[in-house]
Amino acid sequence: MTYTSKQICLTAYPRGMPTPENFELETVQVPDPGEGEITVRNHWMSVDPYMRGRMSGVRTYIDPFEIGKPLEGGAVGEIIASGHDKYKVGDWVLTMKGWREIFTAPVAELEKMMLQKIDPGLIPPQAFLGVAGMPGLTAYAGLYKVAEYKPGETVLVSAASGAVGSTVCQLAKADGGFVVGLAGSDEKCKWLESHGCDSAINYKTTENLTKAIHKAAPGGIDVYFENVGGAMLEAALNNMKMFGRIAACGMISAYNDEKPQPGPSNLVQIVAKSLRMQGFIVSNYQKYALEYFAKLGPLMASGKLVPQETVVEGVEQAPEAFLRLFSGDKQGKMLVKLV
Ligand code: NDP
Repeated sequence: MTYTSKQICLTAYPRGMPTPENFELETVQVPDPGEGEITVRNHWMSVDPYMRGRMSGVRTYIDPFEIGKPLEGGAVGEIIASGHDKYKVGDWVLTMKGWREIFTAPVAELEKMMLQKIDPGLIPPQAFLGVAGMPGLTAYAGLYKVAEYKPGETVLVSAASGAVGSTVCQLAKADGGFVVGLAGSDEKCKWLESHGCDSAINYKTTENLTKAIHKAAPGGIDVYFENVGGAMLEAALNNMKMFGRIAACGMISAYNDEKPQPGPSNLVQIVAKSLRMQGFIVSNYQKYALEYFAKLGPLMASGKLVPQETVVEGVEQAPEAFLRLFSGDKQGKMLVKLV
């Protein structure tokens, strides 16, 4: 039995902010699985900021998307037909075959791209795309392994209400830290102040970010978890304590720039304050996944770590969901529900 599936293809590499015209919906016939192949019906797919880098047409740490081909990204779904002994009909899997409803692919190919069986009875399946997936591990690795956060320190987090940021805030708080978050609306700040942040600053309505951070944490910042770059990095540098650490996770404010932003005018503070700033890519920290899950389970069970989601329905809505990562019109993990 063959299936019909809708999927989203890239029509052109966007310059500047992507628009809906950069994406195209197409309908395809999905073949039955041959030997060693599985057919999966995706139930949830993720949109993530790193996908913007894959739309630039240039190889960075990962290959660019191909024009005219379906986009890719994290997705969870159920196997509906199988030609492979180990993967049976009814099993749930995490794959990188998002942006489409149904697909057939060789297990050997999927295994190269993080194929993983998941148990949807344990936690809601979409959590494997958020707090129990790539963004969650990013938060853990950046905070504990890159920034070497020690319980009780003062932590500043930008894009604090996002998938990564909201997990960082709650992890740091659960370990007794003093946490300041930067976010783009009063509503987001209010949520953060009841979920991990001692203080949250709406950067869109704050005239002087350096002063606002100082007011929130007069003793200074031990760890800055950098998700945004630009003005936020500058304000963070002004507030770092001596020997502070910066985990450079992302700089989303620059992802759609057509011309490079001027660098922070105060980089010299790295010297004066003996700061350490280190970038990282989560795929290099996969070995800490089990350690992270051991911490995550009790925190979620006790309500100390609460994931937040914004959900849109239907693969047709995926481009719009992706664009909302940059407008900030969402809270927590942005997800597309496909079934
Ligand atoms: P989300 O998509 O959940 O959130 C992104 C948020 O960033 C938006 O909601 C918005 O919130 C904020 N934002 C968007 N554009 C701007 C801008 N121009 N200026 C300031 N804020 C902006 O993101 P994630 O939590 O998934 O990712 C956060 C960061 O982590 C990104 O930079 C991403 O690239 C990076 N990342 C890095 C990884 C790694 O391995 N190094 C892995 C995963 C993510 P607001 O309303 O506050 O403006």
